[in-house]
Order: sequence, then structure tokens, then C-alpha cells
Amino acid sequence: MTDRFVVVGAGTMGLGIAYVAAGAGYEVELVEVDAGRAGAARETLGGLWDRAVARGRITEAAAGQARARVSVRRELAEVADRPDVLVEAVPERADLKRRVLAAAEERRPALLGSNTSSIAIGELAGALAAPERFLGLHFFNPVWAMALLEVVVGPATAASTTDAAVALAGRLGKDPVVVRDLPGFATSRLGVALGLEAIRMVADEVASPADIDKAMVLGYRHPVGPLELTDLVGLDVRLDIARTLQAAYGDRFAPPPLLESMVARGLLGKKTGQGFYRWEGGVRQ
Ligand code: NAD
Repeated sequence: MTDRFVVVGAGTMGLGIAYVAAGAGYEVELVEVDAGRAGAARETLGGLWDRAVARGRITEAAAGQARARVSVRRELAEVADRPDVLVEAVPERADLKRRVLAAAEERRPALLGSNTSSIAIGELAGALAAPERFLGLHFFNPVWAMALLEVVVGPATAASTTDAAVALAGRLGKDPVVVRDLPGFATSRLGVALGLEAIRMVADEVASPADIDKAMVLGYRHPVGPLELTDLVGLDVRLDIARTLQAAYGDRFAPPPLLESMVARGLLGKKTGQGFYRWEGGVRQ
């Protein structure tokens, strides 16, 4: 029997996770409440497979099989009982995630994960009857291109659940790190620390954004500079995470005034066409 994988939320991350899971041979059920997004999900996924075929990354036959393994559902109640894996990728709001996870648990998944980038796994686990089966499965965007899976172990997560998540990473072609459930996990805590300092350096006029980024790309071999990365992630998203980390760790994560004022002026980065750089048609100018 084929293994079954449920993804809740067909947004940026949910589609990416569904794509990777179907490619790894899982029978995927993708749950999306929004009618428009649910309707577009198969087409968006189809476009990803078409591109992979055009670039020679996958054969046409394999793409066709993967495509056929994905079904779209409108609610969790329509999902078949006892899937092997269930991951939620709904928006980053604790109340919503807790509600979705409680409903997800009723489908009795062997492994239950949240793709949260900043909410404590322990806080989300409070909504569950069996928190030992639950942990953070933090994928990165775009899911098909990013090798990392950050496995976040909550206070009640069983060792066997962590082992299952590490095995899952291998099957999906991801390389896992296992981290404790502390705010910002490993990636956001370090990445945001660097990003906030780079923004303070812009305000101090140490150098232009392009030169600060170039210094890290050429001097430290970062694939992308901290300011360009902030533009890609979204300045509003980074501001939210900085505030969460400030509450947890104190003022070393205090958002720089420049970040606050750029967000207030709607300069959110790539998605609005202007952040530390100008963006046109998704390309940095
Ligand atoms: P998104 O807004 O693109 O997608 C969320 C989707 O969930 C939407 O399509 C929405 O209609 C759907 N949804 C809302 N309530 C639902 C429900 N009850 N049942 C089913 N579907 C529902 O969000 P995203 O960027 O994909 O982020 C999802 C999660 O992944 C968040 O927790 C975010 O923090 C995390 N994350 C995002 C990124 C990123 O770069 N975007 C990276 C890592 C982690």
C-alpha cells in the first residue's frame, strides 16, 4: 500500500511540501479552505512539474505519476483516516494553527507536524491529546530547492517521533537538523540576528545595502546578502519575528527604527517592489 501524506494549506509552503511529497512517492491529500486557491492548486503544481520536465530534472512519465498522486480536499473531515504524515502549513497564527492541529489529530496521523517558523511547538502541542506524536517540520522556501528540514522537538515529543521525522527528511531528499523548541529555533534566531545588524549598518551609513551584501557574499561566501534576503522574506515578516525574539531574549533583537519605518511606509521588499532594493517582475534591479 502506498504511504499517505496530508498537507493542510495550499499556499506557498503547502504547495511546495505537496510537490516534494508526491515526488517522493506519497499519495498526497492537500487540504485548502479557500475555493480559489483549492481550484488553482493542481494547476500550480502542474506548472512546477512542467518546468521540472522542461529542465530535464524529471521524466515526463515520472511527472505524470507524481501529478496523479495529488488530490485536493476542501476540509480535513474529507481526508482518509490514519495517514502516515500530516503537516499543517496554514498562516502563522497560533489560534488558527491550534484549531487546525486539533482537527488534524482526529484523522489519527502517525506523525503530525507544523511548518511554523516562529511559534513554540510546546504552545501548539497544548491543543493536542497526543502531543508525543507532534513536532515542528520547518521546511524552507522554495521547498523543492532548499535542502534543509529543521526538526523542532517540543517538550512532549517522543524520541520515536523525532526518529520518524529524521527518516521522513531522508525520504523527501532533505537534510535535517534537530533543534530544541526555543524561540527562533536555529535558523530564524541566527538569520534574523544577522539581518537586524545589517539594517543597523545601513542606518549608520557604514556602506550601501549593495556593498554590505557584497561584503558577506564575497567575504563570507554567503549565497545571498542579509539585506537582499530580508527583501526576499519580506520586511514585515522579519519585523514580526524580531518582535517575538525581542520578547524572548531581550533588546538584542529589538527591531531597528529603520526596519519599523520601512514597514510603516509599505516598503516590504520583493513583494511590494521596493525594500532595500527595487524589484521589477520579481528581479532585483
Ligand atoms: P500562505 O498564506 O501562502 O498559505 C496559507 C494557506 O493556508 C492559504 O492558502 C490559506 O487559504 C490556507 N488556510 C488557512 N486556513 C486554513 C484551514 N483552516 N484549512 C486549510 N487551509 C487553510 O502561507 P505560507 O507562506 O505558505 O506559510 C504557511 C506556514 O509556513 C506559516 O506557518 C509560515 O510561518 C511558514 N513558513 C513560511 C515560509 C515562507 O517563506 N513563506 C517559510 C517557512 C515557513
